[in-house]
Amino acid sequence: MSIKYINDLDIRGKRLLIRVDFNVPLDEMGNITDDTRIRSVLPTINYALDEEAKVILASHMGRPKGKIDKSLTLEPVARRLKRLLGKDVLMANECVGDDVEKIVNSIDGDYVVLLENLRFHIGEDKNEDNFAKELSKLADVYVNDAFAVSHRKNASVVAITKFFNEYGAGFLMKKELNYFTRAMENPARPLVAIIGGGKVSNKLGALENLIKKVDKMIVGGGMAFTFLKAIGYNVGKSLVEEKLVDTALRILDIAKKRDVKFYLPVDCVVADRFESKAKTKITTVQEIPKDWMGLDIGPATTALFGEVLQNARTIIWNGPMGAFEMDAFSRGTFAMVNLVARSHALKIVGGGDTDVAVNKVGKLDSMSYISTGGGAFIQILEGKPLPGIEALRG
Ligand code: AMP
Repeated sequence: MSIKYINDLDIRGKRLLIRVDFNVPLDEMGNITDDTRIRSVLPTINYALDEEAKVILASHMGRPKGKIDKSLTLEPVARRLKRLLGKDVLMANECVGDDVEKIVNSIDGDYVVLLENLRFHIGEDKNEDNFAKELSKLADVYVNDAFAVSHRKNASVVAITKFFNEYGAGFLMKKELNYFTRAMENPARPLVAIIGGGKVSNKLGALENLIKKVDKMIVGGGMAFTFLKAIGYNVGKSLVEEKLVDTALRILDIAKKRDVKFYLPVDCVVADRFESKAKTKITTVQEIPKDWMGLDIGPATTALFGEVLQNARTIIWNGPMGAFEMDAFSRGTFAMVNLVARSHALKIVGGGDTDVAVNKVGKLDSMSYISTGGGAFIQILEGKPLPGIEALRG
């Protein structure tokens, strides 16, 4: 069944519960350091307000695992939201119960209500019907606009739709799904995937699924060394998952059979230890010294990957090319940001670290779409259905 979106639903004057992802990063003082997650759902909230819906927002913050943890209150979000929305935000000190029901039943449209952290209740994590039912008492219509939690079986994204007659997805979810459909289901070709990051094990499912869909696959970051080991190179102390060496060979074999071009680094920045002040040098991947480790791609690899991207018409990128948090090993990832930014392809970037790198280079606006999902993004790349999206299909 197809998904209804908020603009297909009759929400005028109704109590509308919107599941959002306001799990923003906070510093030690509890100040929000990046409010992208709040900004990204403003179109949905503003649409609902224009339709004169009584808006109730629900989110989690951190992982309190069913216990009240004052450091994970959504209060800082309420303050920021008020500023961004230009409207009062009433912070409820609970997310379910009689008191909250009274609050939402008296909303008059001059303010929106933000419920307290859903994960203060274990029923949220456990996808419990009882908790979902309690939440559903607060509203007439339910909308999920929390793409980044849609891979989780949580009560406010999965069990909840059982208790509403009217439900659908918000505009952020719509945007995410539209871009993924364009990239994965009927892409303009060549379709190139760039997969990086620490370990093969974190992205095995994505590699196995993508290898059946893409025309070219670029693998960088720590995971490249398991592949390089598999094809017979000595990679010194680089990150290698011995158990996955055979799996890497199998993936390379599938690529060969399907005529997918598979690109690995040809040179790398090696270091004598995993530290920003380590001794470093550039070597070919054939010549990594025995006691050194590869922590970034080298300049010849950057040139090669740039060549590969030349004629790309769709690019999907997840994961950095090196341990880019340390300046000494950031050059490859930042160069990749520039290469992707320069491409005329449809460019979809996602996964916690990748957007951080894009942001650091100041190229957010040069990408076609930066996904808000980390785990959810990977699960889409794996070709697996997301429980939160399936629940919206009814
Ligand atoms: P992931 O969360 O799987 O995308 O992995 C991201 C992490 O991988 C980042 O924190 C990087 O520092 C790390 N990483 C990338 N390349 C390497 C490498 N060559 N060796 C060790 N860690 C790496």
